[in-house]
Amino acid sequence: ERLISGAADYDDASLEYSLRPKQLREYIGQQKVKENLTVFIEAAKMRGETLDHVLLYGPPGLGKTTLAAIIANEMGVQLRTTAGPAIERPGDLAAILTALEPGDVLFIDEIHRLPRAVEEVLYPAMEDFCLDIVIGKGPAARSVRLDLPPFTLVGATTRSGALSAPLRDRFGVLSRLEYYTPEELAHIVKRTAHIFAVEIEDEAAWEVARRSRGTPRIANRLLRRVRDFAQVRGDGTITFTLANEALEQLQVDRLGLDHLDHKLLKSMMEKFRGGPVGLETIAATIGEEAQTIEDVYEPYLLQIGFLQRTPRGRVVTPLAYNHFGLEVPR
Ligand code: ADP
Repeated sequence: ERLISGAADYDDASLEYSLRPKQLREYIGQQKVKENLTVFIEAAKMRGETLDHVLLYGPPGLGKTTLAAIIANEMGVQLRTTAGPAIERPGDLAAILTALEPGDVLFIDEIHRLPRAVEEVLYPAMEDFCLDIVIGKGPAARSVRLDLPPFTLVGATTRSGALSAPLRDRFGVLSRLEYYTPEELAHIVKRTAHIFAVEIEDEAAWEVARRSRGTPRIANRLLRRVRDFAQVRGDGTITFTLANEALEQLQVDRLGLDHLDHKLLKSMMEKFRGGPVGLETIAATIGEEAQTIEDVYEPYLLQIGFLQRTPRGRVVTPLAYNHFGLEVPR
């Protein structure tokens, strides 16, 4: 596992519950999303209705699960949590839906991974709060309509494009989460340090923030590692010097790139003069799957402008050459 991966590892999962903000005003950043949700939640409450179904999309670790829990909390209802791959058959979804209390928020993570047959059960459930179930087989089969309590579906996905159009269309609110600015991440780091009851200098929080790839989950993870260094090598306080040393030791550079990012960029620069290089060629060169490169390596490198996608392949930009102190080839 990479230290700078946005996906949750075991340690994250066991800690995240205590780190999650519980209210919208504690949720840092994502200003537009927050403003809109504040209005929609308020309006739904004034009308005494459930909130419209909400689709949250964006890279892993940006706060989708957190937001789903906040929505339930702000609406004063219960949160039920599941994930696309966990719902294998229509019956699994029917069991979840019929167990909901009126107004509940049902959170489905990785909703793009719901099997097709399950998705079809979800349509009438979202639209009319009912289930069409078929009982019996062959000529004796008949369809029965079952009423469900009204509920709010909050779906999360890392790729909105992977969602089928009929499913996407059934969400009233579509919110895209953006990478966080270093300022916002520094704020999150300080908040987490406070929860951990550990002192951290402002410049140290900033240093952790810069290297966290715009992602709160990574910021919290790096902070935990830096805290270990501060405990063992210092007096527990996270100073700027300690944070810097720890992050160097962890091989996360000043922009949050690790040895695998370096390997990818350097092999493109050294072997292909920076490109354009086809995805498959890059994959073969560094011994990684093309899909992994596309899903895991590239998004952040594209985001910070180190890579560009062109019709002829990937190109390393002058910014990346600068970062490594190398001349841009003519
Ligand atoms: P996702 O569901 O998008 O993968 P999570 O909601 O699990 O991400 O967030 C990962 C961690 O990052 C959470 O434990 C939470 O502590 C932290 N986090 C995410 N967004 C915020 C935020 N806006 N403010 C403070 N902490 C956040």
